[in-house]
Amino acid sequence: MSEHLTREQLIEQMARAQFDAQDAFYPTPDEWDHMGTRERAEWLAIVGSTLPVIVKAVTDRMRALHEPVEVEPSDTICGPCSFLLPNGRYFGKVEEYPCPTVRLCDEIDADLGVER
Ligand SMILES: [Zn+2]
Repeated sequence: MSEHLTREQLIEQMARAQFDAQDAFYPTPDEWDHMGTRERAEWLAIVGSTLPVIVKAVTDRMRALHEPVEVEPSDTICGPCSFLLPNGRYFGKVEEYPCPTVRLCDEIDADLGVER
């Protein structure tokens, strides 16, 4: 499994970016690294509340590319991940739904606080 940022690491980076951007408009003597524990916790909570909104927008777009298709007799497959013959039937590579991409979206949503 590849390395990826945790929810906490992402929120920290987002908060720092927002802090830096705000500091450009409203310079303060306080710098991120010298921020008090309570103030930092407030920044993280406020900025962290936006993470699921952003993540959901991204995973929704990924999911939209992997629409489920009902096929005989009673299977649900991922249309775009399966091979569609010119006669309209799926054959050969048939990926069950949810496909690996949709399962990854589920995992990302769960890790980063998206509620569905
Ligand atoms: Zn798929």
